[in-house]
Amino acid sequence: MCKRPGEPKNNDQYLISMQHPPPKMPLRSPYLCRMQILNGKETAQAIKDSLKLEVAQLASRGAPVPHLVAILVGNNGASETYVASKVKACHEVGFKSTLIRLEEETSELKLLEIIRGLNIDPDVDGILVQLPLPAHISAEEVINTIDCNKDVDGFHPNNVGRMVLGQPTFVPATPYGIMLMLEHYKVETRGKHAVVIGRSNIVGRPMSILLSGSSNPGNCTVTICHSSTKNLEEICQSADIIVAALGRPGFVKADMVKEGAVVIDVGITRVDDPTKKSGYRISGDVDFTDVAPKCSFITPVPGGVGPMTIAALMKNTFRACAMKHYD
Ligand code: NAP
Repeated sequence: MCKRPGEPKNNDQYLISMQHPPPKMPLRSPYLCRMQILNGKETAQAIKDSLKLEVAQLASRGAPVPHLVAILVGNNGASETYVASKVKACHEVGFKSTLIRLEEETSELKLLEIIRGLNIDPDVDGILVQLPLPAHISAEEVINTIDCNKDVDGFHPNNVGRMVLGQPTFVPATPYGIMLMLEHYKVETRGKHAVVIGRSNIVGRPMSILLSGSSNPGNCTVTICHSSTKNLEEICQSADIIVAALGRPGFVKADMVKEGAVVIDVGITRVDDPTKKSGYRISGDVDFTDVAPKCSFITPVPGGVGPMTIAALMKNTFRACAMKHYD
């Protein structure tokens, strides 16, 4: 995608001249790529605006509006924040939302009973149980109990299976949000080598499946890496697209990234920062300052994948309602 010094110039939009940087664009690196930020906040807003319009139109015709129920067990600080932003997004787009708060000590049996009740409640379209759960509750049992037609997180084995087969389904919100962002920015993915760092069921693994799918975006050749991967740096150096989803702040450095790569930073880790009122700041898995000048596209943290995850969840919830009432 990017030319190296000495190669002839052309009109490629990604090229900026070493000798003649465009006005107001200071040359900050020895690389020739023009980096573009993948702005998740703006893209998510566009998706939510469009959903809001659709919901308002349906409501004006007397159709039911989507209803998302979120269950939060315990009071993990990060989970509180995530659930609050999901509920806020529901309000923004005109969905109904209900937050069920349960004590940390709530038994698995009680939680499963509540889920079964929601499964048969005709007023509920989407159910999500915020993870992680307290150690005495099996996340697997909980996920398997959610009606797969209301599983807007896309974690139920039926939905995972459908995703693997390339069938329409609820796709886990974070990888779905990333695909929506790649689509929005028309990032070319066909035939590219994508390296996904992390193989969790909620991010890395579904991401690798979606990127390797016969779709657009998609059609990548995918390498999935994890903590036992050897030569991770070398593998990353050969990547056209890197998706970092390992939860290690600043892990991806410039020397792991080839010029012109697309870098998607999924990481969200609270790092102590006494200069902040909260005492912490949010850090991604990519050393943004180091890596960004080398990229063609990069997501910031915050304001990249995070808002896209919420927007994708809203799309899944709309879909759950549409399957029941509009289709
Ligand atoms: P996870 O379940 O802890 O999985 C982390 C994965 O990274 C594992 O597969 C692990 O390998 C791998 N890994 C860890 N250290 C590694 C290393 N040094 N080299 C290579 N691979 C390594 O985490 P997750 O739930 O997928 O989340 C990952 C990050 O994304 C976290 O920071 C999380 O907060 C963030 N996240 C953000 C969003 C969002 O909306 N932006 C949504 C979800 C998660 P093993 O399998 O071998 O252990």
